Amino acid sequence: MIEYNCRVCGFNIFPDEFWEDESPTYLICPCCGCESGNDDYKIDSIKQYRDIWISKGAKWFNPKEIPEDWHLEEQLEKIPTKFR
Ligand SMILES: [Zn+2]
Repeated sequence: MIEYNCRVCGFNIFPDEFWEDESPTYLICPCCGCESGNDDYKIDSIKQYRDIWISKGAKWFNPKEIPEDWHLEEQLEKIPTKFR
């Protein structure tokens, strides 16, 4: 299974991918800055990373990639249920 959505923030990085069949690509999420395979390996670290990221204002790691109609709440809805 290919995971296009960040486990931490839900950002969709298609056509790149964060995980494929439980193997991480070590890609850095342009939104929350999490590195797949490192920061999102365990549910505890996912939740911790997300809490800290949101508490600091949910700032973009790479602001050049912010979509024009970006809404944090809508994106968080795209986090797969098992990583919430
Ligand atoms: Zn992310």
